[in-house]
Parts: sequence; C-alpha cells; structure tokens
Amino acid sequence: MNRQIRILQRPRPSKAVSREDFQFEKEITDFNIECPICLHVIMDDPLQSLCCGRHFCKACISGVEIDCYTRVRSCPICRGDCSDTFPDKNFERIVYSKAVYCMKKNQTQEAQCDWSGKLRDFRDHLSTTCPYDLVECKYKCSQKDILRVDLTDHLENRCMLRPYSCQHCGAKDAYKAITKSHYRVCKNYPVGCSHCSDENVRRSELNQHVKDECPMQRVECAFSWLGCKEWPLRKDAKEHYSDSHHEALSQAYRKLRDDTDELHLHTNKLRLDTNDLRFDTNELFRDVNQLKFDMNIRKIDISALYDSLNEKIYNLKVENAKLKDEMEERINRRCRDLERDLKVLSKDHDDLLRWYSKLVDDYDSFKLILEISILDIAIQL
Ligand SMILES: [Zn+2]
Ligand SMILES: [Zn+2]
Ligand SMILES: [Zn+2]
Ligand SMILES: [Zn+2]
Ligand SMILES: [Zn+2]
Ligand SMILES: [Zn+2]
Ligand SMILES: [Zn+2]
Repeated sequence: MNRQIRILQRPRPSKAVSREDFQFEKEITDFNIECPICLHVIMDDPLQSLCCGRHFCKACISGVEIDCYTRVRSCPICRGDCSDTFPDKNFERIVYSKAVYCMKKNQTQEAQCDWSGKLRDFRDHLSTTCPYDLVECKYKCSQKDILRVDLTDHLENRCMLRPYSCQHCGAKDAYKAITKSHYRVCKNYPVGCSHCSDENVRRSELNQHVKDECPMQRVECAFSWLGCKEWPLRKDAKEHYSDSHHEALSQAYRKLRDDTDELHLHTNKLRLDTNDLRFDTNELFRDVNQLKFDMNIRKIDISALYDSLNEKIYNLKVENAKLKDEMEERINRRCRDLERDLKVLSKDHDDLLRWYSKLVDDYDSFKLILEISILDIAIQL
C-alpha cells in the first residue's frame, strides 16, 4: 500500500538553512541534522520521535496527519506511529554549538563568504550579513537571484522598477516605464533630424527646426522678388546671395532711383494739391460759421414765436372757460323759466277741465228742464 505522508501545514522558517550553505569545522556523525520532511537543517525546537529516534523540526512533525487506515500519525521514515516525540536538549547543546564556515559564494563561484562561527548563529548571519545570500528586491521586480552584496547596485542602477526620472523632461516613474514607454512620447526626447546630422533636436521642436533652422533644408532665395527661382540649401544661402545677383541688383537699383525721382515729382504735386485743399477747407469753415450764426438767429425767432403762441393759447383757454360758465348759467335759467311756465300751464289745464265739466253739467240740467218744459207744453196742448 502506497501510504503518502500528508502534511497539514508546513510553516516555512523565516530563513531556511540548507546543508550546502555551511561546513562543519569537524564533521559530526552522531546526529542526522536534516529534517526528513522539509529537507532543511533543523534550526528550531528539534523533536526526536519515539518510533525510530529521528529528529524533526517541531513544526514539520506536528503537521503530519493521522493516517485514515492505521489511525496513527505515520512516521515518514519508519512508517510507525510518530505521535510521541520529545525535545532533544542534547541535540541542541551539541549540534548548535559546533563551529561552522559559511560556504556561500558569489555568482561566478570565485569568491566565498569568510564568516565562521557557531551553527546557532549561522541563520542570523545568513538573513542579515552574508554577502552572498539571496535577498528580495524592495521594488518587487522579477529578478530573483540578487545577492546581498549586489543589492545596493541593483536598487540604484539595475532594478527595472526603481524610481527614475526622465533626464529630458523630469517626468517620474519606474525605470522600465520611463525608458520603454515614456521615451516614445517624451516631448523633450532628443531625436535625429532626417535632413541634417543634428541628433539632438527635441521631439516637440523638430518641425520648427526643419522650418527655421535645419541647414539641409531648402529655402526660397531672398531675391525671388528679383526673379531668382532658385531654392538653395539654408547652409549655402549666403554663398548663393553673394554669387549671382549683382547684375539683377544693379538693375533693381537703377529702377529704384527712377522710381524715387518719380516719387519726388508726385510728392511736389501732392504738396500743391494739399495747399489748394487747405484753402478750400478754410472757405468751407467760414461758410459753416456763417450758417451757425444764421441758425442761432432763427432759433431766437422761433423761441419768441413759441412764447407768443403759448400766451394766445392760454388766453383762449381762459375765454373758453368763461363762455362755458355763461352758457351753463343761461341754460339753467331757461330751464327754471320753462319749469315755471309748465306749472302755470298745468294749472290752467286743470281749471279748464273743471269749467268744462261744469259746462257739461249745466248743459245736462238745461236739457232736462227743456225736455220737461216740452213735455208740459205737450200735455197742455
Ligand atoms: Zn522540517
Ligand atoms: Zn519513525
Ligand atoms: Zn556567509
Ligand atoms: Zn529589483
Ligand atoms: Zn521625458
Ligand atoms: Zn536638420
Ligand atoms: Zn537667388
């Protein structure tokens, strides 16, 4: 039956010590100082098992699980029950006080650590002072084979993740980020001009260099206005100018002289015209002043007219009010008269009515008397 040793937990010692890391001054034969589980030198709490008498690290032997078939902790050496262990003070006393030499070497195996001491101090030496022990980079880069002696150089000059600033623009990042990605976009990074031999043009100024400075760029001849169609290289421009423009320049000079003379004539004519104009202007000023004077007089007339109109309007208003009052008074008076007449008339009317009814009554009584008289007469007859 293939019974596997199952380890529950195997806490690694802070710094494991291998048998190859040191050499005894006098080799020991009484003890097997390597733990059969972790295969490192037992440096903490050596325990001896009862089953076969082997030594183990305390952490390693405590991690051996109970076997599900035999229901015991199976010893990795003798397969017996290794539950019973005890601290071996003898081991500690003898083994840890042995003199040892550090066997750590540099990468090329040319140099060796010169430390010697007791085994109990060896692990401390390894984890703090041994120049040829492996250490971790504090920037967590991927390099895993850094010797303590090389650490400072690694951190300062070699680590791809060390803090770094761009020497062209001062941007800060890890060395790898600056040199791999930042340099590709850094605006101050020196780039070579493809026309001239200048290798130190800032990336952001390359266009301007080509446009305004590059000696290998062609430029329009400064005498193109004289008809020169050539585009000399910027570096040859001076030579080009001194070479080939004498005839054209003297022609241009002659033309310039003629033009200047003509200009003088024009200037004189202009001066005369200016004088004429000045005279006209003065006349115009005089007219304007006269006009201003006339206008002021008109203004005074208009204001007087305005005043008299105002006065007339006021008088008309007063008269109008007076007339209105008078008319009202007259109308009122007439109304009162009419009312009075109406009253008189209505009284006359009543009287007339009374008189009329009396007349009717008289007529009726007279008629009656007449009829009676007629009747009497008739009877008498
Ligand atoms: Zn162990
Ligand atoms: Zn055993
Ligand atoms: Zn050493
Ligand atoms: Zn590093
Ligand atoms: Zn930069
Ligand atoms: Zn250039
Ligand atoms: Zn030219």
